[in-house]
Amino acid sequence: MSELIKKTAAELSAAVASGEASAVEVAAAHLDRIAAVDGSVKAFLHVNAEDALAQAREVDRKRAAGEPLGALAGVPVAVKDLFATIGLPTTCGSKILDGWVPPYESTVTRRLRDAGAVLIGKTNMDEFAMGSSTENSGYGPSHNPWNLSKVPGGSSGGSAAAVAAYEAPLALGTDTGGSIRQPAAVCGIVGTKPTYGGNSRYGVVAFASSLDTPGPFGRTVLDAALLHEVMSGHDPMDSTSIDAPVPPVVEAARHGDVAGLRIGIVSEFSGDGYQSGVMTRFTEAVELLESLGAKVTEVSCPHFKYALPAYYLIAPSEASSNLARFDGMRYGLRAGGGSAEEVMAVTRAQGFGAEVKRRIMLGTYALSSGYYDAYYGKAQQVRTLIIRDFQNAFSQVDVLISPPTPTTAFDIGERADDPMAMYLADLCTIPSNLAGNAAISVPIGVAPEDGLPVGLQIMAPPLADDRLYRVAAAVEAAFTERWGHPLLAEAKGLF
Ligand code: GLN
Repeated sequence: MSELIKKTAAELSAAVASGEASAVEVAAAHLDRIAAVDGSVKAFLHVNAEDALAQAREVDRKRAAGEPLGALAGVPVAVKDLFATIGLPTTCGSKILDGWVPPYESTVTRRLRDAGAVLIGKTNMDEFAMGSSTENSGYGPSHNPWNLSKVPGGSSGGSAAAVAAYEAPLALGTDTGGSIRQPAAVCGIVGTKPTYGGNSRYGVVAFASSLDTPGPFGRTVLDAALLHEVMSGHDPMDSTSIDAPVPPVVEAARHGDVAGLRIGIVSEFSGDGYQSGVMTRFTEAVELLESLGAKVTEVSCPHFKYALPAYYLIAPSEASSNLARFDGMRYGLRAGGGSAEEVMAVTRAQGFGAEVKRRIMLGTYALSSGYYDAYYGKAQQVRTLIIRDFQNAFSQVDVLISPPTPTTAFDIGERADDPMAMYLADLCTIPSNLAGNAAISVPIGVAPEDGLPVGLQIMAPPLADDRLYRVAAAVEAAFTERWGHPLLAEAKGLF
């Protein structure tokens, strides 16, 4: 196995820039790794081998010609299969998009290409990003590299698994209710949900437009920050994109520090339903933060208990509207014959999986006349109360912390037939989506009872994304000093 795959993105870009390694060598090492392990991890839906090598050759050509290299020159990035990529299939984990090759490029992947990153493949996900395990994928589940019988989380589970299995140093995901932070936590890597509007949604297949947030995965805090910075920034092609400078996340990741920082523990996120090992590690992390000079207090966010029900009205409502475009005419699958209505009905019946149909029905019901005020309108009011809880909390503390997810990775199949149990995986992550805040999950070791990774969630106000990285980098450094890197790189069974 090539040592190149064990390097961080920061190391790889430096090695390529200095000529210590060529971009082609880096890409080939990761393609070899994918060939060796992805038969069991199943992180990728599409491996972009030929084209990745061509992208890498272009980086090497630029270097040889003395042309400027981008911040991620020669660094492989795995891309969740809902970012539109010219010439590469984009399925969104759904049979309804089988065979669709987008004629345009998402802003985020365009920025990565411009920065010299090598898009190495498209990763598996829950269909239309609805789920917490990748089991809702139309193409079969991905597996957690720590234990192949466990889920890698979801919906960006393929991206998280690819990074945890050393198939790519970086990956792109999207977080609508937790789909970056939850898989990052259960795969033992770093994952960030940036401030809503900090990253363009142009060319990202829409699930719930007021919540969808593209974001980065990496094995280190600095790596996640490097990707975060490259992918972010205002985009006139997305009307909800924020026209403000990108927070200095890389600078923050290089200078981890919590001395004098006021940190609030969300008191609602503990107790029944939280796995003991998750809480053991959380308590240790709190002690660690205090030992580093942070002032830790408890803060109550009384409306967070309504976040899950509010989300499961708002997200399906938006999804029912967004998914109306999949009509058998414009994209991918076309089934049935006869009238337009028949084609649409048969295509949607065949092309969508059970969870997607459930959400479309829920959302259509919640938006229908007579129920709109009682359900959708009420949920929007709850959303305002949650925003106020955050505002109140952030008037007392600089960041909030909690477990990112109540449990470690669960067994494949364990929650597949129980939507409510699946929904609970996002209990702690959803409030930040409803409020549009920034939040990160950083590894803090493994649960003693099952040896599976545990994360720490850090939440900051909108546009204070740099604060997340400052805290996460301090946590990472302290844990690394104590026990070695919390990723405990030798993910079991794969090395
Ligand atoms: N698990 C949540 C859901 O199923 C969140 C998904 C996401 O963030 N895309 O909706």
